[in-house]
Amino acid sequence: MKYIGFLIAAVLSFIILPNSVVQADQESSARMALYKKTSALTDIPWEYIAAVDQYERQIHTNRKEGRVTAIEPDPMFWTGSAGEMPAAIFPEGWGADGNGDQKVQINNDEDVLWSMASYIKSFGTTPDDIKIALWNYYKRDLTVQTIVNTAEVFKKFQTVSLTKRDFPVPTQTNYSYKNTWGDARGFGGRRIHEGTDIFANYGVPVKSTTYGVIEMKGWNKFGGWRIGIRDIYNIYHYYAHLNGFKEGMKIGDVVQPGDVIGSVGASGYGPPGTSGKFPPHLHYGMYQDNGKNEWSFDPYPYLRKWERMAKN
Ligand SMILES: [Zn+2]
Repeated sequence: MKYIGFLIAAVLSFIILPNSVVQADQESSARMALYKKTSALTDIPWEYIAAVDQYERQIHTNRKEGRVTAIEPDPMFWTGSAGEMPAAIFPEGWGADGNGDQKVQINNDEDVLWSMASYIKSFGTTPDDIKIALWNYYKRDLTVQTIVNTAEVFKKFQTVSLTKRDFPVPTQTNYSYKNTWGDARGFGGRRIHEGTDIFANYGVPVKSTTYGVIEMKGWNKFGGWRIGIRDIYNIYHYYAHLNGFKEGMKIGDVVQPGDVIGSVGASGYGPPGTSGKFPPHLHYGMYQDNGKNEWSFDPYPYLRKWERMAKN
């Protein structure tokens, strides 16, 4: 009888949940198991291994066949040229036999994770050691910052499955926005309008749309009081013209969707404190980093989607 109940539940969940949700869920538990195993073998906290993988997932969009992780190690870390060597001749490179099949394979999840973690471990296991290891590997500050931020988020929520999102202002308040990304703008020089303006009253709460870390907080003569949040998808979320910040909030804080970070205002276009040169609104921008460059993309379709999610 137990089996029949289980079978019915399994069939039901298969029918009710879209296939992609089931797959994403299975994949994140498979990933989590690999991170924890690698962590147990190397003493590198699992959230760092997960964060390196998460970073590379955004860089390499084509997943290698048969793999659930996305790290594509630099070939110089592997002995030999084919990326597949008997473990016995391993010592010249960093490639390590994580799954114990006596081979070190550049396309095996466990071998790759163990190799990466062993490389990091050669610098030590404290957060500072890990940061130095990451800098030596990637040689790029923004990459190291992104990975360290992501590790903080994973550590706080103890999962890599963080799919919740929120709309940046409460959907019960009066607000309006149009798709104006890419328009020429009246202020701020010749750059295009790199965001969506959400018009709302002074003091309406502004919320984080995503899981991430506060990376920037302060004044800029165009944007006024601004906040920047780096999320776990190598995306930077930019909130400008705020009236003020949430009390006590500081750079490095981990946030989740719905956390209030400040309030709507009309600050900007002058020295610190200048306000009221245009109607109050939240300027919301999104920037994608591909490991080499960071560029603005249109947040409007995402705002529409998050608005629908928030109203349900
Ligand atoms: Zn704007």
